[in-house]
Amino acid sequence: MSRSYTVRTYGCQMNVHDSERMAGLLEDAGYARAEDPDTADVVVFNTCAVRENADNKLYGNLGHLRPRKVANPDMQIAVGGCLAQKDRDTITRRAPWVDVVFGTHNVHALPTLLERARHNEQAQVEIAEALEVFPSTLPARRDSAYAGWVSISVGCNNTCTFCIVPSLRGKERDRRPGDVLAEVQTLAADGVLEVTLLGQNVNAYGSDMGDRQAFSKLLRACGEVEGLERVRFTSPHPRDFTSDVIAAMAQTPNVCPQLHMPLQSGSDDVLRRMRRSYRSERFLSILAEVRESIPHAAITTDIIVGFPGETERDFQDTLDVVERARFAAAFTFQYSKRPGTPAADLPDQLPKAVVQERYERLVALQERISWEENRRQEGTEVELLVSTGEGRKDAATARLTGRARDGRLVHFAPGDATGIRPGDIVTVRIDRGAPHHLVADGGVLTHRRTRAGDAAEAGERPSGAPTTLGLPAFGAPAPEPAPATPSCGVPATTGGAR
Ligand code: SF4
Repeated sequence: MSRSYTVRTYGCQMNVHDSERMAGLLEDAGYARAEDPDTADVVVFNTCAVRENADNKLYGNLGHLRPRKVANPDMQIAVGGCLAQKDRDTITRRAPWVDVVFGTHNVHALPTLLERARHNEQAQVEIAEALEVFPSTLPARRDSAYAGWVSISVGCNNTCTFCIVPSLRGKERDRRPGDVLAEVQTLAADGVLEVTLLGQNVNAYGSDMGDRQAFSKLLRACGEVEGLERVRFTSPHPRDFTSDVIAAMAQTPNVCPQLHMPLQSGSDDVLRRMRRSYRSERFLSILAEVRESIPHAAITTDIIVGFPGETERDFQDTLDVVERARFAAAFTFQYSKRPGTPAADLPDQLPKAVVQERYERLVALQERISWEENRRQEGTEVELLVSTGEGRKDAATARLTGRARDGRLVHFAPGDATGIRPGDIVTVRIDRGAPHHLVADGGVLTHRRTRAGDAAEAGERPSGAPTTLGLPAFGAPAPEPAPATPSCGVPATTGGAR
């Protein structure tokens, strides 16, 4: 009987997608997904170094597993991801019952390391300093039948002072456009309707290839992929946000009218100390240009409150920009020190009480704006891609949940319609806007059954077949309290003022 596995994921969408690759690798090596994660033979932690107290949480979780490991030495524990890249053999020193530690650059080594640890009866710690195999070339066990992540680059060339990403994920490496498109086409051919292009700095794509317009070309090329209905991307950096990207968004029908672009601060002084090279007026001018070309675009952002040295005046600047920007939602974060980042050593770290008080004011402002913006949707007709697992109260309210093209979450009553599955497309009329979602209780206006819906119903997932092999693929190539400082990869589990 094959050994069972489970992967526990922390952090951003990059990690969520990397976990799909880890699962694919393990299934390729003969492991089977555990029916009950609590009894899995192999537990893999895909860690994040961005969240506050990430290390305490990891060691706490590892401690909980210790009795199982003692009772069943055949069970294995592996730790990968950013915290593993950072802490290396500290992990096996603090938790000697861990079997494998692997980093962000050698995800592909996971099955081999597990096998070697079993064979040698000794912990294996293997961290690479540079990317060995682009994760997108690895097999994947995708979680969704209707939406897929496609990584277009890894790493980041920026040096934002609050961010640990450059030291843990390395310099930006771009995948060749042909490889990206081949993966997008494979997903669409498998019935996937929505693709999200992923990168720490997604619109810097092409810097490896010396092509400043590579990202807009990629968006337009996605527009040609048959069957692909929705294209999203995350996260762009304001510094690299050029007009050709806005034109490509506006002119490519399947690119969704949605933009998530991190502001981080509305104070130019703070942006300077963060080493973010744009200024607030530049940020607002990009928003104005986007809205001129795509008037119905929903724009969301990330904001850090309480960066070292932030004065009340600086914070007021942030509030002013938030008021003017009219974000549909914002992920808000309280700054907290990250060892290994330049900002951790800056003077004038702010007292927690000050940060908390400002955070609450920002959240209240953004909630008001989000609610106002959502109420403007009342009476409009929207197309939804029906999703699974996003409406926690659906069972109690007899509603289903979907995402509008602009990314808004909509809870809807099916009315007389039956047989609506995740992955199907429906249209509804919005009755009510709430701060964090929209409600449509008038029943569905149209329902289109899709191949993605068929696959979801049958429990099938896209094949995730590798698109190419090895490094030659590179071109010349419900809210948690006070989420901690983010990088550009928005933590998938954060809340804040959405
Ligand atoms: S915050 Fe984003 S752009 Fe800045 S260094 Fe981190 S990943 Fe790069």
